[in-house]
Amino acid sequence: MTNLAANLVQTAADHGDRPAVRLDDAVLTYSDLYSAAAGVAGMLTGRGINPGDRVGLVFPNVPAYPIVFYGALLAGATVVPMNPLLKAREVEYYLTDSGMSLVFGWDGGGDAVAEAAKSVGIDSVIVGAMGPSAEQIGDAEPAPDVVDRADDDTAVILYTSGTTGQPKGAELTHHNLDTNCRTTVDALIQITPDDVIMGCLPLFHVFGLTCGLNASVVTGSCLTLIPRFDAGKALEVIERDKVTVFEGVPTMYAGILHHENADSADVSSLRTCISGGSAMPVEIMKSFEEKLGCVILEGYGLSETSPVASFNQPGKERKPGSIGFEVPGCEMKVVDDDGNEVAEGEPGEIAIRGENVMKGYWGRPEATAESIPDGWFRTGDVATKDADGYYTIVDRKKDLIIRGGYNVYPREIEEALYEHPAVAEAAVIGIKHSDLGEEVGAAVSFKSGESAEPDELKAFVKERVAAYKYPRHVWVVEELPKGPTGKILRREVEAPEGTGS
Ligand code: AMP
Repeated sequence: MTNLAANLVQTAADHGDRPAVRLDDAVLTYSDLYSAAAGVAGMLTGRGINPGDRVGLVFPNVPAYPIVFYGALLAGATVVPMNPLLKAREVEYYLTDSGMSLVFGWDGGGDAVAEAAKSVGIDSVIVGAMGPSAEQIGDAEPAPDVVDRADDDTAVILYTSGTTGQPKGAELTHHNLDTNCRTTVDALIQITPDDVIMGCLPLFHVFGLTCGLNASVVTGSCLTLIPRFDAGKALEVIERDKVTVFEGVPTMYAGILHHENADSADVSSLRTCISGGSAMPVEIMKSFEEKLGCVILEGYGLSETSPVASFNQPGKERKPGSIGFEVPGCEMKVVDDDGNEVAEGEPGEIAIRGENVMKGYWGRPEATAESIPDGWFRTGDVATKDADGYYTIVDRKKDLIIRGGYNVYPREIEEALYEHPAVAEAAVIGIKHSDLGEEVGAAVSFKSGESAEPDELKAFVKERVAAYKYPRHVWVVEELPKGPTGKILRREVEAPEGTGS
């Protein structure tokens, strides 16, 4: 039967008594999760939700998320997850754009969801952290069975800015998500029912959704949730729940590495760490592995590719700084602007084709045709491919800085800054310059108790890269702007007033 939710039905039958989702002291077994989700499915059907109708979810990582996510899928609906930090005006955009029928919100999240729903004239259901109450479910009969969907029916619409413009909804089908999740758990992380997966990546983002939630459900392992990432809490939970698989973006690894309890916490249960979402600075990777004693495997992907496209795969050589090579079921190549493959070692745009590539952008045939012009999805990421077939991301196409006609990729400069012992995080951006077009600038934050003069940092990088590349402007910030997963948002970094010309 094709429906991502069939995985939950199967796992509830096979591993009903095993813990599925944990939030501190609250534990749901697979039987609990399935019966709660079936209740939601019954409630949705009772409210007239039909297969393919869009149902929104606005939750942090609390048990209500998996319950409602799988409930909506059981009923055959298409799920539209959203960030719980959105303001009413922003939620409204998603409700309208996706033509949503009903939206679920969380009672700890303020009024944004209810307000947005009211203003576009749809129903909202505001539930507690543990999911809808008995009164909210009412006397709706729990769904007797999974509503069958076709392989290429859309299971989830994930909003992403993609390479340009306003957020667009990437339509991920049941097959896209199921196949990418199975590849992840079988070939890459090799998850078993005995694993405990750290659920600190937001579940409304594709990385947490596929590699955290769907991966735990398909295998019968336990997902232990942290509503919003906090490095100290993550260390506590790893020790308390004997977490075996940690999945995070690089800033999470940096946060844990630099946390005061990193030395004392017992993290010996960890068997594998997975990084993705943005480039893992090699320096952070090495220090983390040394201090916490667990190897980090880096992968790469996007919302549009469900997400995992490439990975440093187990049993094969691991190349720190590289994103590995394509995962089963997915093809990758590096192309020029005409779509022709470039020579080995030459930079070009990554193009992806495979079972994990989205159907298209919801309601945007032109944007879909532009991003998939010839059957290959253009990622907007620039990379090189080496003789062994490993890819290394150079940078995002649009983050390229052109200084006096020379290309400077921010990532290379950031890697050099991370080598400085005082630097905790760094973001390199282009600053307008009257003669050069752009000048290179760097915002840095320091590890607690450490500092360095901007001139020292400039000199430090100058020793490591070609003279045209080192940052002429360096400034210190308390913290860098981050996206919902914790990715550093270069585009939101601002140079101090008066910098550049
Ligand atoms: P999202 O759709 O939010 O998952 O963002 C996808 C983007 O994250 C990609 O287009 C890349 O720019 C970036 N990304 C993901 N994984 C990596 C990685 N391992 N190294 C560098 N960039 C990455």
